[in-house]
Amino acid sequence: EWVKDYCKRNGLLTLSVLAVMSGCVVGFTLRSLNLSTQVMQKIYFSFPGELLMRMLKMLIFPLITSSLMSGLSAMATKVSGRLGLLTITYYLWTIFIAVIVGIILVLIIHPGTGTEKEGHKASGGPVMTSADALLDLIRNMIPSNLIEATFQQYKTELVPNFKNSAKSSQANFVYIMPDYENPKMGHPVFLELTPPPEIHYKIVPGKSNGMNVLGIVIFSATMGLLLGRMGSRGTPLVNVCLCINECVMKIINAAMWYFPFGIVFLVARKILDMHDPAVLAEKLGMYFMMVLAGLFVHGVILLPMFFFLFTGKNPFSYIRGLLQALVIALATSSSSATLPITMKCLLENCHVDRKIARFVLPVGATINMDGTALYEAVAAIFIAQVNEYELDFGQLVTISITATAASIGAAGIPQAGLVTMVIVLTSVGLPPDDISLIVAIDWILDRFRTMINVLGDALAAGIMAHLCRKDFQKDIPSSSKSENTM
Ligand code: ASP
Repeated sequence: EWVKDYCKRNGLLTLSVLAVMSGCVVGFTLRSLNLSTQVMQKIYFSFPGELLMRMLKMLIFPLITSSLMSGLSAMATKVSGRLGLLTITYYLWTIFIAVIVGIILVLIIHPGTGTEKEGHKASGGPVMTSADALLDLIRNMIPSNLIEATFQQYKTELVPNFKNSAKSSQANFVYIMPDYENPKMGHPVFLELTPPPEIHYKIVPGKSNGMNVLGIVIFSATMGLLLGRMGSRGTPLVNVCLCINECVMKIINAAMWYFPFGIVFLVARKILDMHDPAVLAEKLGMYFMMVLAGLFVHGVILLPMFFFLFTGKNPFSYIRGLLQALVIALATSSSSATLPITMKCLLENCHVDRKIARFVLPVGATINMDGTALYEAVAAIFIAQVNEYELDFGQLVTISITATAASIGAAGIPQAGLVTMVIVLTSVGLPPDDISLIVAIDWILDRFRTMINVLGDALAAGIMAHLCRKDFQKDIPSSSKSENTM
């Protein structure tokens, strides 16, 4: 009886956790048998994981548009304005706290000092600045083509200018594919591994593969607000959105049973893929532990504390309902891809008001990245320490601001944070090439910071549901309409 009850409630979660562990075992076993290269050549091995990612990504677009349009249309303008303001303020506040936690930890522990690394200066030429990131953010908010926004986003990047660089230098680049599932389409970032020869960079405003979630969020939110104002004339479209939303949720429920299987391969493949962290092994280990410690402090102590302070409810029983989403975040390292599962957990396990979840989650998955912000600040200061570069107070302030901006600008896709790191580094005059110091272990940290990103969004939804509950009680007609439809 007991076992049956447990399996019914936690079966899928247990399977997913077991899948992560089996993925690690399979990955490390194949690696130690030196089968990496043979297996890697076989695309069949990554196929089950690829399918999982494809399913999740397929659901993002219908989920975001239908959630925001139906969610916001059901709210009175005053309520949605208040909710929007509260949500954005809370997000900015928690991102900033995350950055401060990171900075304090890294300044106390000093993981990067005392290393023998030859300092080298940033190669001459243009450097990317926070202004470039800001422009990209605004460009992404206003996509010139909505269809294109479903597969591309604006992204200014610093890329080596091979024409002006010494020929031999090309061999020293490593390509990082933020979109590992689709390496050919992924936008390569060029980083050096060895001490740099003469390399010239150029700044290219361009586009990169991946959905422009921000643009879609802004468009759908605007449509939702307008639909709400239209009253009964907008109802047909709102009903369409509600139907799409319900279907997406049903697809998720069915697809969930495939996920554990996909996770095994996703994780194993990544482990096979990993580069040996040869550089600065010891310091890198310290840095690794430090980022994890920071994420722990923020995700397990501070965020739950805020939740408790705002709602008076037990944060950990709330988080229990989110475990499935956290496992998926760990397995996919993408908060956008996890969004459908986060939504499901919030609605079914945490019983957050649908309208609130439909607004707070898609916006959060796009801009609220506490884990990423914390990691960016820690990584930048770590790199400064490795370079024996003293940061003054003003530079620490700059890092905290740029890390906040860089995390907001980062897309919810694997290793997006590593790419936006360039902005943080250049803002205080650190060599952007030094990202290569932390590349080797970034994919693991990415998984953990994505978990904290997802956790931050979900806790925020709980807090907003509590803060805005009175507004929604007044708002009974539209709320009961939406509940009945679902
Ligand atoms: N992978 C992270 C996310 O999807 C972003 C990052 O920090 O790279 O939330």
